[in-house]
Amino acid sequence: MSEHILLDLDHTLYPPSTGLMDEMNRRIESYTASFLKVSLPESERIRATLRDRHGTTLRGLFLEHGDDPERFLAFVHQGLPGDFLKNDPALDAALAALGKKVHIFTNAPENYARRALSALGVAQRFDRVFDIAFTKYLGKPALEAYRMVETALSCGPSSCLLVDDTLSNVRGALSAGWKAVWLTERADEGGIRKVASLSLLPDLLRQAVGGR
Ligand SMILES: [Mg+2]
Repeated sequence: MSEHILLDLDHTLYPPSTGLMDEMNRRIESYTASFLKVSLPESERIRATLRDRHGTTLRGLFLEHGDDPERFLAFVHQGLPGDFLKNDPALDAALAALGKKVHIFTNAPENYARRALSALGVAQRFDRVFDIAFTKYLGKPALEAYRMVETALSCGPSSCLLVDDTLSNVRGALSAGWKAVWLTERADEGGIRKVASLSLLPDLLRQAVGGR
Protein backbone atom coordinates (compact mmCIF):
# COMPACT_ATOMS: atom_id res chain seq x y z
CA MET A 1 0.00 0.00 0.00
CA SER A 2 1.25 3.47 -0.78
CA GLU A 3 2.82 5.36 2.06
CA HIS A 4 0.49 8.32 1.57
CA ILE A 5 -3.11 8.20 0.39
CA LEU A 6 -4.47 11.52 -0.84
CA LEU A 7 -8.18 11.92 -1.44
CA ASP A 8 -9.90 14.60 -3.46
CA LEU A 9 -12.85 16.19 -1.62
CA ASP A 10 -15.68 17.34 -3.89
CA HIS A 11 -17.54 14.47 -5.59
CA THR A 12 -15.03 12.06 -4.09
CA LEU A 13 -16.08 12.09 -0.42
CA TYR A 14 -19.70 12.85 -1.28
CA PRO A 15 -21.83 12.21 -4.39
CA PRO A 16 -23.14 14.72 -6.97
CA SER A 17 -26.69 14.01 -5.73
CA THR A 18 -26.04 16.22 -2.67
CA GLY A 19 -26.34 19.28 -4.95
CA LEU A 20 -23.39 20.95 -3.20
CA MET A 21 -21.28 21.40 -6.32
CA ASP A 22 -24.32 22.62 -8.26
CA GLU A 23 -24.58 25.41 -5.69
CA MET A 24 -20.86 26.20 -6.00
CA ASN A 25 -21.09 26.20 -9.80
CA ARG A 26 -24.03 28.63 -9.63
CA ARG A 27 -21.90 30.91 -7.47
CA ILE A 28 -18.91 30.64 -9.84
CA GLU A 29 -21.19 31.53 -12.77
CA SER A 30 -22.63 34.54 -11.01
CA TYR A 31 -19.22 35.64 -9.69
CA THR A 32 -17.63 35.39 -13.15
CA ALA A 33 -20.46 37.27 -14.84
CA SER A 34 -20.37 40.03 -12.24
CA PHE A 35 -16.57 40.27 -12.18
CA LEU A 36 -16.28 40.44 -15.97
CA LYS A 37 -19.47 42.54 -16.29
CA VAL A 38 -20.97 40.22 -18.90
CA SER A 39 -24.20 38.18 -19.18
CA LEU A 40 -24.43 34.68 -17.67
CA PRO A 41 -24.31 32.92 -21.08
CA GLU A 42 -21.31 35.01 -22.11
CA SER A 43 -19.54 34.28 -18.81
CA GLU A 44 -20.13 30.55 -19.39
CA ARG A 45 -18.37 30.79 -22.75
CA ILE A 46 -15.47 32.66 -21.17
CA ARG A 47 -15.26 30.14 -18.32
CA ALA A 48 -14.98 27.23 -20.74
CA THR A 49 -12.09 28.99 -22.50
CA LEU A 50 -10.37 29.84 -19.22
CA ARG A 51 -10.66 26.23 -17.99
CA ASP A 52 -9.18 24.96 -21.27
CA ARG A 53 -6.27 27.36 -21.08
CA HIS A 54 -5.53 27.31 -17.35
CA GLY A 55 -7.16 24.22 -15.81
CA THR A 56 -9.53 26.09 -13.49
CA THR A 57 -11.79 29.15 -13.70
CA LEU A 58 -10.00 30.61 -10.69
CA ARG A 59 -6.58 30.46 -12.32
CA GLY A 60 -7.90 31.87 -15.60
CA LEU A 61 -9.56 34.84 -13.88
CA PHE A 62 -6.38 35.41 -11.87
CA LEU A 63 -3.93 35.21 -14.81
CA GLU A 64 -5.98 36.86 -17.56
CA HIS A 65 -8.22 39.26 -15.66
CA GLY A 66 -6.28 40.10 -12.49
CA ASP A 67 -8.82 38.65 -10.07
CA ASP A 68 -7.93 38.07 -6.40
CA PRO A 69 -8.09 34.27 -5.78
CA GLU A 70 -9.05 34.71 -2.11
CA ARG A 71 -12.00 36.94 -3.04
CA PHE A 72 -13.19 34.35 -5.56
CA LEU A 73 -12.82 31.46 -3.10
CA ALA A 74 -14.58 33.30 -0.27
CA PHE A 75 -17.55 34.07 -2.52
CA VAL A 76 -17.85 30.51 -3.82
CA HIS A 77 -17.44 28.65 -0.48
CA GLN A 78 -18.93 31.04 2.09
CA GLY A 79 -21.29 29.21 4.46
CA LEU A 80 -20.81 25.87 2.69
CA PRO A 81 -21.31 22.96 2.93
CA GLY A 82 -24.24 24.14 5.09
CA ASP A 83 -27.03 21.56 4.99
CA PHE A 84 -25.76 19.92 1.79
CA LEU A 85 -23.68 17.32 3.64
CA LYS A 86 -24.67 14.97 6.47
CA ASN A 87 -22.80 12.55 8.73
CA ASP A 88 -21.80 9.55 6.61
CA PRO A 89 -21.03 6.49 8.79
CA ALA A 90 -20.41 4.31 5.70
CA LEU A 91 -17.73 6.72 4.50
CA ASP A 92 -16.22 6.75 7.99
CA ALA A 93 -16.11 2.95 7.98
CA ALA A 94 -14.45 2.87 4.55
CA LEU A 95 -11.80 5.35 5.69
CA ALA A 96 -11.23 3.40 8.92
CA ALA A 97 -10.73 0.22 6.85
CA LEU A 98 -7.79 1.87 5.09
CA GLY A 99 -5.95 1.40 8.37
CA LYS A 100 -4.11 4.69 8.26
CA LYS A 101 -4.75 8.41 8.28
CA VAL A 102 -5.11 9.89 4.84
CA HIS A 103 -4.77 13.40 3.47
CA ILE A 104 -7.03 15.71 1.50
CA PHE A 105 -5.72 17.14 -1.80
CA THR A 106 -8.30 19.62 -3.09
CA ASN A 107 -8.59 22.63 -5.37
CA ALA A 108 -10.92 24.18 -2.75
CA PRO A 109 -9.81 26.27 0.27
CA GLU A 110 -8.82 24.57 3.52
CA ASN A 111 -11.46 26.21 5.74
CA TYR A 112 -14.23 24.90 3.49
CA ALA A 113 -12.57 21.44 3.33
CA ARG A 114 -12.40 21.23 7.13
CA ARG A 115 -16.07 22.23 7.46
CA ALA A 116 -16.99 19.55 4.92
CA LEU A 117 -14.99 16.86 6.76
CA SER A 118 -16.72 17.81 10.03
CA ALA A 119 -20.16 17.76 8.39
CA LEU A 120 -19.44 14.26 7.02
CA GLY A 121 -18.21 13.19 10.47
CA VAL A 122 -14.82 12.03 9.17
CA ALA A 123 -12.43 14.81 10.24
CA GLN A 124 -10.60 12.46 12.62
CA ARG A 125 -9.63 10.17 9.72
CA PHE A 126 -7.49 12.81 8.05
CA ASP A 127 -4.01 14.06 8.71
CA ARG A 128 -3.20 16.99 6.42
CA VAL A 129 -5.27 19.14 4.09
CA PHE A 130 -3.46 20.32 0.95
CA ASP A 131 -5.63 23.08 -0.48
CA ILE A 132 -5.56 25.49 -3.39
CA ALA A 133 -3.57 28.14 -1.48
CA PHE A 134 -0.97 25.48 -0.55
CA THR A 135 -0.33 24.96 -4.27
CA LYS A 136 -0.01 28.72 -4.80
CA TYR A 137 -3.39 28.60 -6.60
CA LEU A 138 -2.00 26.27 -9.29
CA GLY A 139 -4.18 23.35 -8.21
CA LYS A 140 -4.44 19.90 -9.74
CA PRO A 141 -3.62 18.88 -12.45
CA ALA A 142 -0.57 21.21 -12.59
CA LEU A 143 2.56 19.08 -12.18
CA GLU A 144 4.03 21.55 -9.71
CA ALA A 145 1.06 21.04 -7.36
CA TYR A 146 1.84 17.32 -7.03
CA ARG A 147 5.52 18.12 -6.46
CA MET A 148 4.62 20.56 -3.64
CA VAL A 149 2.66 17.81 -1.87
CA GLU A 150 5.58 15.36 -2.20
CA THR A 151 7.94 17.93 -0.69
CA ALA A 152 5.59 18.57 2.22
CA LEU A 153 5.29 14.84 2.89
CA SER A 154 9.05 14.29 2.40
CA CYS A 155 8.44 11.45 -0.02
CA GLY A 156 8.96 10.53 -3.64
CA PRO A 157 6.18 10.37 -6.24
CA SER A 158 5.85 6.57 -6.09
CA SER A 159 4.89 6.80 -2.37
CA CYS A 160 1.78 8.87 -3.17
CA LEU A 161 -1.61 7.59 -4.27
CA LEU A 162 -4.40 9.95 -5.39
CA VAL A 163 -8.08 9.04 -5.51
CA ASP A 164 -10.07 11.59 -7.51
CA ASP A 165 -13.32 11.74 -9.50
CA THR A 166 -11.82 14.08 -12.13
CA LEU A 167 -9.99 12.22 -14.89
CA SER A 168 -7.60 15.09 -15.69
CA ASN A 169 -6.44 15.11 -12.05
CA VAL A 170 -5.90 11.35 -12.17
CA ARG A 171 -3.91 11.71 -15.38
CA GLY A 172 -1.91 14.54 -13.79
CA ALA A 173 -1.02 12.29 -10.85
CA LEU A 174 0.07 9.46 -13.15
CA SER A 175 2.18 11.92 -15.19
CA ALA A 176 3.82 13.02 -11.94
CA GLY A 177 4.77 9.41 -11.22
CA TRP A 178 2.10 8.90 -8.55
CA LYS A 179 -0.19 5.95 -8.25
CA ALA A 180 -3.79 6.95 -8.92
CA VAL A 181 -7.32 5.59 -8.77
CA TRP A 182 -10.18 7.16 -10.71
CA LEU A 183 -13.43 7.23 -8.73
CA THR A 184 -15.98 6.56 -11.45
CA GLU A 185 -18.69 4.18 -12.55
CA ARG A 186 -17.59 4.48 -16.16
CA ALA A 187 -16.02 1.46 -17.82
CA ASP A 188 -14.02 3.21 -20.57
CA GLU A 189 -10.55 4.77 -20.34
CA GLY A 190 -8.62 1.52 -20.20
CA GLY A 191 -5.30 1.38 -18.41
CA ILE A 192 -6.44 3.55 -15.52
CA ARG A 193 -7.24 1.90 -12.21
CA LYS A 194 -10.85 2.62 -11.28
CA VAL A 195 -13.11 2.21 -8.29
CA ALA A 196 -16.88 2.77 -8.32
CA SER A 197 -17.17 3.72 -4.65
CA LEU A 198 -14.82 4.67 -1.83
CA SER A 199 -16.26 1.74 0.12
CA LEU A 200 -14.46 -0.54 -2.38
CA LEU A 201 -11.11 1.25 -2.03
CA PRO A 202 -9.70 -0.73 0.94
CA ASP A 203 -10.17 -4.04 -0.93
CA LEU A 204 -8.73 -2.59 -4.14
CA LEU A 205 -5.60 -1.43 -2.34
CA ARG A 206 -5.18 -4.74 -0.51
CA GLN A 207 -5.43 -6.59 -3.84
CA ALA A 208 -2.83 -4.25 -5.37
CA VAL A 209 -0.46 -4.99 -2.49
CA GLY A 210 -1.10 -8.72 -2.92
CA GLY A 211 -0.21 -8.38 -6.59
CA ARG A 212 -3.46 -9.87 -7.82
MG1 LIG B 1 -13.62 16.18 -7.28
